[in-house]
Amino acid sequence: METRLADWIRDTDAGREADAILRSCVHCGFCNATCPTYQLLGDELDGPRGRIYQIKGVLEGAPATRTTQRHLDRCLTCRACETTCPSGVQYGRLLEIGREVVDARVARPLGERLARALLREGVSRRRLFAFGVGLARRLGPLLPARLRAKLGDRGRTGSAPTTRHARRVILLTSCSQDALLPSIDRAAVRVLDRLGVSAIVEPRAGCCGALSAHLSDPNGARAAARRNVDAWWGHVAAGAEALVMTASGCGVQVKDYGHLLAAEPAYAERAARIAALTRDLSEWLREHGRMPRHDLAAPVTVAFHAPCTLQHGQKLVGVVEPILEGLGARLVPVAGAHLCCGSAGSYSLLQPALASALRDAKLESLTAHAPSVILSANVGCIAHLGAAARIPVRHWIEWVEERLHADGRSG
Ligand code: SF4
Ligand code: SF4
Repeated sequence: METRLADWIRDTDAGREADAILRSCVHCGFCNATCPTYQLLGDELDGPRGRIYQIKGVLEGAPATRTTQRHLDRCLTCRACETTCPSGVQYGRLLEIGREVVDARVARPLGERLARALLREGVSRRRLFAFGVGLARRLGPLLPARLRAKLGDRGRTGSAPTTRHARRVILLTSCSQDALLPSIDRAAVRVLDRLGVSAIVEPRAGCCGALSAHLSDPNGARAAARRNVDAWWGHVAAGAEALVMTASGCGVQVKDYGHLLAAEPAYAERAARIAALTRDLSEWLREHGRMPRHDLAAPVTVAFHAPCTLQHGQKLVGVVEPILEGLGARLVPVAGAHLCCGSAGSYSLLQPALASALRDAKLESLTAHAPSVILSANVGCIAHLGAAARIPVRHWIEWVEERLHADGRSG
């Protein structure tokens, strides 16, 4: 489409990037067909094409309004529209730019500002969040049911391996996952150990910055990226093979570090190298692992929920499933597998009505063929779905570890 960006943004990095993205859109509207908010609300302004038009208008000088802000807020950042778009429009990047510009011009009500600041600062500070989760679990019955259900059970973490292998990967432990479900990363460390690889958890690394990026705080996202690049670089220089994650929401953010710090000479090269080394754990296993096959007499019926950050953000489709099938899972078909479950980072807390509607629809399709367990690849989806599901919702690596343990083989 043709563009005439306003003087105040045209010659900036963000302006040039937004202009190129806008020009690649041919406004065909195919993306609306796979947009969860358009499907739910039926309003063009709550679909990708309508949001692109609204961002274009603001960047061309139209006033940003509270209504524009609301339509952009309702976007899940799921990026299903990117997967569908035949023209390769980078909607996610455009949305980040649009949200930043709109939020700089439209003041939010005090309650919203407080909620967003609390999420940004509270969840991304690992110790503070862990303390808050511990306190909330003790307060249990006093909390709103919606929040209580999300906290779930901490679960048993089990022991950490003591063997040091020559092969090493760095493991980023997600800040929310570490507090909510620490058993996930512990299982990952043990599976890697079985495969003869040690996982390094660098204590100076912190939040990947995804939450800041989603809440229109690009400076916070860049600061998180710089801190993590500094923390991990020594391990990369010492020969760590990869940077591995079990939370696909973190993976998609760290894979973007090269882009995020491209304009900072002191960091650009290292950030690009870190991004290139980043792998979802399933991706790493596909490339390097030796996962055993295990033909069971009675396969376990499993529904796999592919998080948006895995299938649309990282474009990893059909990578986890063969690992599960190799260990005796019989995967059931899931209708609308491309659609978001409504978790979407902080979305389920900031847009609870839409998030609940999406979760109900997702659980219906996940359980339509009576699986005994739902497996997924991101802590946010697991907590969100688990809060309303009638069957267990778990991370796939925990299930894999249990199968390996039951089988007694190391691959
Ligand atoms: S984003 Fe892609 S699918 Fe959507 S209107 Fe533009 S070109 Fe068409
Ligand atoms: S990111 Fe998801 S919710 Fe947002 S416009 Fe695209 S498909 Fe719709």
